[in-house]
Amino acid sequence: MHNTKTENKTNYSILLKKYEQLKRRHQKIIKRSDNQAKRLFELNQKLKKMAYIDSMTGIYNRRYFFETATNMVEFAKRENIPLSLAIIDIDKFKKINDTYGHDIGDHVIKMLASLIIDMIEANDIFARFGGEEFILMLPERTLQQAYLFLEQIREITQECTVDQKINFTISTGVVEMTLENETLQKAIKRADLNLYEAKEQGRNRVIYS
Ligand code: GH3
Ligand code: MG
Ligand code: MG
Repeated sequence: MHNTKTENKTNYSILLKKYEQLKRRHQKIIKRSDNQAKRLFELNQKLKKMAYIDSMTGIYNRRYFFETATNMVEFAKRENIPLSLAIIDIDKFKKINDTYGHDIGDHVIKMLASLIIDMIEANDIFARFGGEEFILMLPERTLQQAYLFLEQIREITQECTVDQKINFTISTGVVEMTLENETLQKAIKRADLNLYEAKEQGRNRVIYS
């Protein structure tokens, strides 16, 4: 009888020890999985950012533009605010590459991106649209205001120099969206036609409609 009691006590203390061990192990696993979840969250955030950023210029890319611009169009419709859209393209960029090399070409693209970044407002959506082409959505700007702003960008661009000797110019097509019935795609098409017209008329100009 006495023996069985001692045995039970020993068994109980072994079990308790085992239980404590398991508890510690469990806590360790929870802590590890918390750390992993945190790391996963951070990686996801990083990945998301990477998916929206153009790695060369550090500005937003085409994907970001379409995701946010679509919401902006809806917002402008609801709030009844003007919304203008511009497509900006570097003139004779192939010649810059051919004359000075691809790296200098990259510098020109980066220079233009940072020049425009410095001039836009917080709610403007600015992105690299393709190689040497940028897109800019300008909420709260009428066609006339957008035109004057793009003219300002054009003038500053032609004054700026890359590598102390290289000048370049840009052409721009700008439109104000007809919010009642125009899709983003249609507005982009109209801006693109204006850009084409700017090239046709001799480049280094802003065409609006
Ligand atoms: P236009 O005045 O009519 O716009 O002529 P353009 O020479 O600027 O236009 P075109 O479309 O003929 O040439 C664009 C060139 O841009 C061709 C392509 O190799 C170059 N390009 C595209 N992306 C990059 C880039 O990231 N870096 C560099 N250096 N060149 C690029
Ligand atoms: Mg070009
Ligand atoms: Mg182009």
